[in-house]
Amino acid sequence: MGIDHSRCNRSVVITTARLCGRRGPQIKFPSVKTGVTRMTKKHRIEIPVETAAEVLFESNRTCCVCRERKPVQIHHIDENPANFSKDNLAVLCFDCHRDTQIRGGFDRKLDSAQIRRYRDDWIARVANKREKDHGPLILQFVPSALRIKNVKIIQIKESSDAHAYSIEAEYPQFTSDDKRSELELNSSVSSFVTKAVEDFRNSAIATSNEKLQMRQELHGLGWDSLSIVHRISLLTTDYLSIEFVFQTYGAGAAHSNATTSTLNFGFRPLRQIRLQDLFESSTNYLGTLSEYCVEQLHKLQPSHWSNPIERAEELKTTRDSWILSGAGPIVKNFEKFVFVNEGIKIFFDPYRVGSYAEGRYEVFVPFHVLDPFLSDRVKKALP
Ligand SMILES: [Zn+2]
Repeated sequence: MGIDHSRCNRSVVITTARLCGRRGPQIKFPSVKTGVTRMTKKHRIEIPVETAAEVLFESNRTCCVCRERKPVQIHHIDENPANFSKDNLAVLCFDCHRDTQIRGGFDRKLDSAQIRRYRDDWIARVANKREKDHGPLILQFVPSALRIKNVKIIQIKESSDAHAYSIEAEYPQFTSDDKRSELELNSSVSSFVTKAVEDFRNSAIATSNEKLQMRQELHGLGWDSLSIVHRISLLTTDYLSIEFVFQTYGAGAAHSNATTSTLNFGFRPLRQIRLQDLFESSTNYLGTLSEYCVEQLHKLQPSHWSNPIERAEELKTTRDSWILSGAGPIVKNFEKFVFVNEGIKIFFDPYRVGSYAEGRYEVFVPFHVLDPFLSDRVKKALP
């Protein structure tokens, strides 16, 4: 069949959303709440935030002397509050800090030589432990490999009366100092969307004649439309997650169809991440993921039903077979996911775990549920 592109009306609109603007996505960096009070009778001078953060991080916000989880402060070892050199700073609890103030008496004062020894030993232990179990704190201060500076939204608008279809799509494009990675990232995102647009256009054109016939017989029907919208779920120095919703109206369909697609990228180095890439392959992560989602979906389901109270009662004794199969332990059931703060969000489109009327389900799975199965590489840089 010949394709008459001259009758298509296409436009590509580029809008720019600055990262800090209201319409732009939020960049979420790990925040450092020091929660540290320094009590010095001398002149109060603030330790620079970055230095305080580093000192607290290295000590795991724990007193380096007693090593108990208590409120802490940053102590100036030489008692000069203007000396911010890291070597002069140690994290102490209020009790141990009091021991540095002992003047006379029988108790031996906690002096600077002792504090340095305690501190250096403790910092080494914290680092060792992090190294061993790859806790989520480890990359907080490591600079990013791909620093995203700006996000542009590309819009595609296209329609054809001759072929009876319309398309509205949008997707983000990123600006970074690393031009090679920028190009790679942007083309992954844009080709994902333009491929979908192309497929839709081709099939819409292929059915032009049928649609024309439908329109002659059924006034106004016989039109295909596609809309693609996106949301950036997470953008950190390590990860980027984009959620797309494809809404299609087929010429002959009774209702529209919405499907979710997701793209996840890691930035160190730049790579696309699939669900299975998050886990050690030898582990039974699918079993746990399935169990967790099945449980959550049963909790969510009543509110998607017309009679929530009655359905909640029923679910106390029965399990829903649609949920059991749609959230069963196979990769395909969980492949639509995005990173969010402290976990992943999994999408279950209509018909996966419920009827069309129930709509889409979203299940948040916190990282602590998945922690035993996560690969070391992922643990090192949890969003
Ligand atoms: Zn202490």
